[in-house]
Amino acid sequence: MRIQYICFMPSPLSQDIKFLAGVGPKRAELLKSELGIVTFADLLYYFPYKYVDRTKFYTIREINGQLPYVQIIGKIAKVEKAGEGPKARLTAVLTDQTGTLDLIWFKGIKWVMSSIRTDRQMVIYGKPSVFNGRINIVHPELEDYNEVKNSIAGSIQAFYNTSEKMKNNFLTSRALLKLQTTLLGVLHGYIRETLPEWFVEKYRLDSLENALTNIHLPQNPELLRKAQFRLKFEELFYIQLKLLSIKSYRERKFRGHVFEKVGDKLNAFYHECLPFELTNAQKRVIREIRRDMGSGLQMNRLLQGDVGSGKTLVALMCMLIALDNQVQTCLMAPTEILAVQHFDTLSKLLKPLELNIRLLTGSTKTKDRRLIHQELEDGSLSILIGTHALIEDKVSFKNLGFVVIDEQHRFGVAQRARLWAKNTIPPHVLVMTATPIPRTLAMTLYGDLDVSVIDELPPGRKPVKTLHFFEKMHREVYRFLDSEILKGRQTYVVFPLIEESEKLDYKNLQAGYDHLLKVFPQYKIGMVHGKMKPSDKEEEMLRFKNHETQILVSTTVIEVGVDVPNASVMLIESAERFGLSQLHQLRGRVGRGADQSYCILMSSHKLSKESTIRLETMVRTTDGFEIAEIDLKLRGPGDLEGTQQSGIGFDLKIANISRDGDILQHARNVAADIIDDDPMLEKSHNAPFRVQLRHLKKTPFDWSSIS
Ligand code: ADP
Ligand code: MG
Repeated sequence: MRIQYICFMPSPLSQDIKFLAGVGPKRAELLKSELGIVTFADLLYYFPYKYVDRTKFYTIREINGQLPYVQIIGKIAKVEKAGEGPKARLTAVLTDQTGTLDLIWFKGIKWVMSSIRTDRQMVIYGKPSVFNGRINIVHPELEDYNEVKNSIAGSIQAFYNTSEKMKNNFLTSRALLKLQTTLLGVLHGYIRETLPEWFVEKYRLDSLENALTNIHLPQNPELLRKAQFRLKFEELFYIQLKLLSIKSYRERKFRGHVFEKVGDKLNAFYHECLPFELTNAQKRVIREIRRDMGSGLQMNRLLQGDVGSGKTLVALMCMLIALDNQVQTCLMAPTEILAVQHFDTLSKLLKPLELNIRLLTGSTKTKDRRLIHQELEDGSLSILIGTHALIEDKVSFKNLGFVVIDEQHRFGVAQRARLWAKNTIPPHVLVMTATPIPRTLAMTLYGDLDVSVIDELPPGRKPVKTLHFFEKMHREVYRFLDSEILKGRQTYVVFPLIEESEKLDYKNLQAGYDHLLKVFPQYKIGMVHGKMKPSDKEEEMLRFKNHETQILVSTTVIEVGVDVPNASVMLIESAERFGLSQLHQLRGRVGRGADQSYCILMSSHKLSKESTIRLETMVRTTDGFEIAEIDLKLRGPGDLEGTQQSGIGFDLKIANISRDGDILQHARNVAADIIDDDPMLEKSHNAPFRVQLRHLKKTPFDWSSIS
């Protein structure tokens, strides 16, 4: 009976936060609405964003204006108030055995006066500065030394993010810290280990209870580091364990088409149609893909490569391997323009092979659509190229064996999954990214895929020269555009357009276009933007491609994949407003021919620190992988293009993909070892993993819809 009673006792972890001493209904409401904290556990897992080491006390003699925040013990004397109202200020003199120092307040004077005790030792905490040759501290924090001894001062202080609304209700970072202290007292003995004992020992991890205690109330820097490591490692480990177990499940459950024939089509293409020699990187990647497709397992591979590295050709050759093995293939692109372009490129390259290739997009006419459906079903259609239209339920294949998804980050995981369902044996899937993404991000975003990298550009390409100018240089820049056009080249002029300022941005785009018409009356100028009808957009693009226009004014709709080798200048207006990977993508639109190409970044004089880094990075390097790393550091993974749409919520509480790459790699290796040894996590010593995976509230993927 007694045991049963204990079992039914609710763990305090799931209790409503309003029952924690010091919270109450009003604060509970705030915690919920501002931070999403509902239970004790939610608060426990609300981690600090920074720490300040307050173990060190300074003497006044040691203080200089260059020091960061310092704390000093001393006595306060000579408290003087001068002025009234907004001009009021309070000064006081702090004294210790080594000297004196001025303390100054302009705000909250009444409150400060009431908390200063001149008869006691006080701890003051603040940033020293120099004014009129004297060192002072403006708006220092004050505490009574006697009360302080067993609280903040003398320890490492955790800081929590709070909102304005919380602060107005005295739910400051300090208040949260106090709540955490209370909470840890209440939970003592209830925090159960979420990793198996053998695992904690083997990898020398802190216990969960210790880690959670030290993350909020670190006793010293060493224990804080240990706590952070344990929590980050666990977080990343479970994500990897989940991803790798999905991968392993898929490998066990799905047979793949076995493509073992070395066929005529590939040979014919290779020997008769290939207009150039493949780069070594292209050859290596084709080998990797080929190995996958012959293995009997279903391939799920991510192909990474910088803009212009020749991913399309790789995809094409792999499609031929599939065709040689009597299956159908399709290629899906994120926009109509790109689908059309792929269709044109592939049709041209494959012409001698006389294959049945068709294009299916939103604007395909009903009659043609019907024909396509029929040919797909009777198997006479070999290659289907298109947009999202491909994954509509109506589209069914006789025997789909290989799928290429271009520019993946525009597609969601769920869409990828729908393609799999197009055949009883799921097709091999090759996903191509538009821009390289950092290794660490790939491990998380595409952690269930194998990865191939093209790390080499075709020979003979001259790297694009990138220049940054401030706006007043427009005239010179236009003169340069003119000289390029006179040489027979074409130029892009791109304007920013974001949702938040759409109206104004469209106005600027139109004004920019009108201005260019005046500057270059002798040239034909086209314009494309997202509000145009797809067919009109298409037409404008085509006019540019056919060299009927010399200048193309546009928004970022031309960002991805568009190929006009004769274009040699990419002029980007208000470049400071673009993201780094976007700038890199845009730059990738030029430099596709043999001639020297240029990317010109125009910006205003007022640049934030981040914009400066972005523009400098663009000028300094053309390496897409390096750019991707910097982009990740600047923006954080949650903001990276595509991560939101990709269907994978980044819900990392403590680990940071850009900073914790080493821990991530370690966690992935450890998870891989465990899955290799015990794919279903059936062994008893792995049981806690299974339990925990089930408990993970927000799983990064929902694959349940697939099988
Ligand atoms: P991306 O990787 O950006 O999709 P593409 O596949 O569009 O690159 O290729 C960019 C250009 O390079 C195309 O015009 C393509 O024909 C050309 N290309 C691809 N591979 C080679 C190669 N091995 N040698 C020379 N040119 C190549
Ligand atoms: Mg491409």
